[in-house]
Amino acid sequence: MTARPCPICGKPSAPAESDVAPFCSQRCKDVDLNRWLKGTYAIPAVEADDDEDEGGEGDSPAIH
Ligand SMILES: [Zn+2]
Repeated sequence: MTARPCPICGKPSAPAESDVAPFCSQRCKDVDLNRWLKGTYAIPAVEADDDEDEGGEGDSPAIH
């Protein structure tokens, strides 16, 4: 079987052993993750500070 194309952009996806599989790149992986967080995972949020685009922190988010 051939590898499935990237579900985000349709390009050939990265090998299964890759960090970004089944996507083609980290960018597409992020896109999918964001869809998840903003769509399926839509929390009736009260917080307005949702735009964390600094992207520097490596620590895990607050886990309850
Ligand atoms: Zn892609």
